[in-house]
Amino acid sequence: MNNCIVLDGRKVAEESNSKLSAQASNLTNKYGRKPCLAAILVGDDPASATYIAMKEKACKSVGLETKTIIMNKDSTTEVVLELISALNEDENVDGILLQHPVPKGIDEIVCFNNISLNKDVDGVTTLGYGNMAMGLDSFGSCTPFGIMRLLESYQIDCSGKLALVVGRSQILGKPMSAMLLNKNATTITAHSKTENLPSLLKQADIVIAAVGKPKFIKCTGLKKGSILIDAGYHPIEKCGDVDMNGIEDIVSAYTPVPGGVGPMTINTLIYNTIKSMEKTFNV
Ligand code: NAP
Repeated sequence: MNNCIVLDGRKVAEESNSKLSAQASNLTNKYGRKPCLAAILVGDDPASATYIAMKEKACKSVGLETKTIIMNKDSTTEVVLELISALNEDENVDGILLQHPVPKGIDEIVCFNNISLNKDVDGVTTLGYGNMAMGLDSFGSCTPFGIMRLLESYQIDCSGKLALVVGRSQILGKPMSAMLLNKNATTITAHSKTENLPSLLKQADIVIAAVGKPKFIKCTGLKKGSILIDAGYHPIEKCGDVDMNGIEDIVSAYTPVPGGVGPMTINTLIYNTIKSMEKTFNV
């Protein structure tokens, strides 16, 4: 019998969603409109279309309004920028989400950076990232912020812990490391050029797997009693970035896949959109 805790993102997200639903309803009654997320999908990537549909459904179930704009895969950067500009100006829109990745011909960073900071509820702008890293007010990038909120809901204190983030993408690995550092973890960010990853995995108290490779990290290589967060999701293999075989004999807590990080990401998008409307009305 072991005491391993399953960090149940689905349950935590559901509990949070019911609180957010009450907040959304209060805002709607008071200001005559629902909090609104505008989601832009460029192209016909089936995985992106599924993610957008999931986000739309979750937003609606909590009482948000959604505007989903689907653009042709041959759209230019300029056309996407025009749409972003119109949504920035639209006072009935609280948050803008540009689904990543956009087709190759579009400059994603330029598009992200044209989203107004006040509406950057997905936490993708350079300025928003900088503010977050400096510990200033910002919307945290949804997946890492969702992970921080999940850790907090289980009262897991990162202070003084050695946290290893495997992956350094703009939307996940880098902001994850900065958020953990802001909570006083001692952080290491590993990437494809990192030497001797197995030795780092063996030392870390908290491991965040954000590699994008199915079962890349073997849980048998983790430190006994450590905490594992698996942010990866591979729909075909139906697994994350960690081979979980034997996990409960090794770690003290871990996120299941699915049902760990994914639901917290969507919940955090809703959380940030409501926060954006509250900021607009100084609630
Ligand atoms: P990404 O942009 O492909 O980044 C992957 C990172 O892994 C890169 O920084 C890369 O290093 C690093 N990496 C690759 N091979 C490595 C190796 N051998 N050793 C150490 N590091 C290595 O991926 P992402 O967008 O961050 O996503 C990562 C995972 O999270 C994916 O499985 C994705 O599906 C999942 N995800 C889940 C959610 C959710 O809501 N659950 C949201 C977003 C992403 P370099 O920088 O050196 O190339």
